[in-house]
Amino acid sequence: MQFYSESLTEYKRLATREVKIGDLLLGNFQPIRVQTMTTTDTMDTIATVEQSIRCIEAGAELIRITAPSKNEAENLLNIKNELRKRGYTTPLVADIHFTPNAAEIAARIVEKVRVNPGNYVDKKKFELIEYSDADYAEEIDRIRERFTPLIKICKEYGTAMRIGTNHGSLSDRIMSRYGDTPMGMVESAMEFLRIARDETYHNIVLSMKASNPQVMVQAYRLLVKSMFNEFGECYPLHLGVTEAGDGEDGRVKSAIGIGTLMEDGLGDTIRVSLTEDPELEIPVCKDLVKRYEIRSQKDRKTERPKDIPDIQKSSPGLPDLQSSRLPYDPFHYQRRETFAIDNIGGKHVPVVIADLSKLENITASHLQSVGYTYDAATDKWNISDAAADYIFTGQAELDFALPGPLKVITWPDHWQAAADKTKYFPIYEAKGYIDAEAKSDTINFVMLDCFSEQTPLNGFTYLDELANDRSVVLCLSSKNQHTMAAVRRMFIELMGREINNPVILITDSDWQTADEHLIHFATETGALLLDGLGDGICLGMTSTAYNSVNGQLSTVNASGRNYLNNQTTEQFINNTAFSILQATRTRISKTEYISCPSCGRTLFDLQETTAKIRSRTNHLKGVKIAIMGCIVNGPGEMADADFGYVGSGPGKITLYKGKEVMKRNVNSEVAVEELINLLKESDAWVTP
Ligand code: SF4
Repeated sequence: MQFYSESLTEYKRLATREVKIGDLLLGNFQPIRVQTMTTTDTMDTIATVEQSIRCIEAGAELIRITAPSKNEAENLLNIKNELRKRGYTTPLVADIHFTPNAAEIAARIVEKVRVNPGNYVDKKKFELIEYSDADYAEEIDRIRERFTPLIKICKEYGTAMRIGTNHGSLSDRIMSRYGDTPMGMVESAMEFLRIARDETYHNIVLSMKASNPQVMVQAYRLLVKSMFNEFGECYPLHLGVTEAGDGEDGRVKSAIGIGTLMEDGLGDTIRVSLTEDPELEIPVCKDLVKRYEIRSQKDRKTERPKDIPDIQKSSPGLPDLQSSRLPYDPFHYQRRETFAIDNIGGKHVPVVIADLSKLENITASHLQSVGYTYDAATDKWNISDAAADYIFTGQAELDFALPGPLKVITWPDHWQAAADKTKYFPIYEAKGYIDAEAKSDTINFVMLDCFSEQTPLNGFTYLDELANDRSVVLCLSSKNQHTMAAVRRMFIELMGREINNPVILITDSDWQTADEHLIHFATETGALLLDGLGDGICLGMTSTAYNSVNGQLSTVNASGRNYLNNQTTEQFINNTAFSILQATRTRISKTEYISCPSCGRTLFDLQETTAKIRSRTNHLKGVKIAIMGCIVNGPGEMADADFGYVGSGPGKITLYKGKEVMKRNVNSEVAVEELINLLKESDAWVTP
């Protein structure tokens, strides 16, 4: 065990207990299970059955259905019977929040119940209450008293349980002691887990969801560490990013959170929460899971130079972080220290390098794909918030004047021929740079292959010669199948040797579909950026992948919606790069939407409303707007949103600023307009 995973250098799944959910086995190296949640009214038996069937046919192995009160819990029996009658035996999960009564009914009917320790028994009033140790212990006793009957029912009926903590719906008690932190999330679940273990009930899965992938990843890592420290074993993990939103942003956010953990072998089941029809979540889940199905246990290990002690060997068991050799803290975000070269590294936000090298002739109009639009009438460039900082042109020559802030990276011979050395910079292979006679005075990009089978230690060979050269920006990539771990290993090396050159993450995708590319880019780079590693990204496609999409990407999902709107490949990659930086909160370039996936509690059409709000507010860079289906869970789960649009009754919306109610029960027909007014009153509005 290394900190929170079996290995930080090779792909190994974390060993977890095996849990039985109906006939489905989960954990203990069983395949990673994919699941979703219905959005229909649970009292509408046929609609719920039919939506469940669509999800099952798409590949869902577990179906979760909300049971907010006794009536819905009881109706789960009709849903289950109808599904069985139609030949579907997929296990069902009851989603419980506040009501132990509903949980106790559901646990006798379905194969699994999910409880949220933040609001099962504990009440949330968003109050800061001081708890003495005695008060705190008394509350835990009260939880034990209310939670134990459910455990006994689950034991009797063979029902499994998920203890599912959500960032944002932590109880006032947990908040008073731990704050709104990953540690608070972990402790919230651990309290329930201890009670279950005392009853020798182990059919348990755990989750630590947040809409911020950074918080979510840290919470899962801490949970694994805490379980091993306290129990010497780990229960299976259900991974998910809550309220991820829809379209590209929803997929990118989910892939960063879920993918980062899966890269380190964590996760026994996953749910991708999108504000789209639930069956559309399943292909995204499958795309995520298949990356690890093909990554065999025999995957090549990233070798380490002999003089550097192996992290694995120096860290038997679960090491204390202080005594470990990992030079960064995987449980807290801190950006790796670098010196700045021009606008790269130091305190600068990560840069985006757009790879235009596959275009035959680069013209001014091509720059539109990467955020620069030329207006011939005014002879000016319009620059978007998601405009690339550099373009890599390869062999191409440019015969037009560049927009002001844009710079060009090109091969050394083309750089030498370029007239304006303040705008053009060379990129070298490591040895090429060391041997080169002509070098830039300001920036030299130098590529290092962190690991490849043919030349495993190639990247390490030149480190001493490049170390702390104040003109060298390192560009890291790897040909290892477990690429992220190989690049991370190089970062560990750099930090160990106190090499502070800024680093660009170079990631190529060889996948086929838009979703596969998105997931690949988000996982490979997001996992590093979440740990503060990387001062820029350059995403690209292999020639095979690029040629197969033929310059134009479209992904029409099952609802017929083309969420990519036929972007050019360069545009898609550039947008993905900015979405990754936004989701990792390392560079904010657009409005952030935290929208719940909807469920049987939802009080309005979430997809339509989200689209409407997005169309009016998508120019508000940096503003976080939550769109939540119900007032029961919405306010708690919208986490750190700046503004909230929350369903509070049929046709009624309550508007929030942070956690404070600003306009209660607004008629839904004017609610979007009222939200805009609230943004204006709060000085968060700018004219589009
Ligand atoms: S916030 Fe959304 S997904 Fe969560 S319970 Fe309410 S309606 Fe359902």
